[in-house]
Amino acid sequence: MVKRGIIIGRFQPPHRGHVEVFKQILREVDELIVVVGSAQESHTLENPFTAGERVLMISKALAEARVDLSRVHIIPIPDVNNNAIWVSHVTSLSPPFEIVYSGNPLVRRLFKEAGFETKTPPMFKRKEYWGTEIRDRMIRGKRWEELVPEAVLEVMREIKAVERLKDLSKTDYLLR
Ligand code: NAD
Repeated sequence: MVKRGIIIGRFQPPHRGHVEVFKQILREVDELIVVVGSAQESHTLENPFTAGERVLMISKALAEARVDLSRVHIIPIPDVNNNAIWVSHVTSLSPPFEIVYSGNPLVRRLFKEAGFETKTPPMFKRKEYWGTEIRDRMIRGKRWEELVPEAVLEVMREIKAVERLKDLSKTDYLLR
């Protein structure tokens, strides 16, 4: 039987820590499902990138890392306004899986209560490989480029990500 693991994140944006954790999970399972969560969100300071842009960034980053893409499924899933039914919402839209990997205690709790095996993956350089830090640096004109894979950087340039974030910061609330 094929053993599948799932990891769910907002990936705003995907960074080097995410790619490390994807590679690590792929050592433990046959196939990995990467769920691009909060798929309905985009163009805010907390969630600047569309689900489609995030899918593109993740698939290109995995290809760059020479991960066999036939072992990875990347699917966008929007949030639902009810935590108690969220797990069935996810399972209804995802390929079948057995193990849930998440550093997010709420995600682990919800899947555990639904009877899934849950695992906490290791964090890599969490202070820097952190979406909030990367978005903050982009807005403030600090160096952020080395925190994301080259392939993500290319997509960010293509979609003029810095310009978008700077514009959003003029109308949206401040990050910190
Ligand atoms: P995230 O993008 O912050 O992180 C995704 C995963 O990447 C985490 O599990 C974490 O373990 C890993 N990670 C982050 N930084 C890392 C690093 N430096 N090194 C290694 N690993 C690292 O996402 P999140 O906040 O956990 O996303 C959860 C998603 O699930 C969100 O989209 C949320 O809205 C959704 N959700 C929805 C509902 C609902 O709709 N009711 C309920 C719960 C969760």
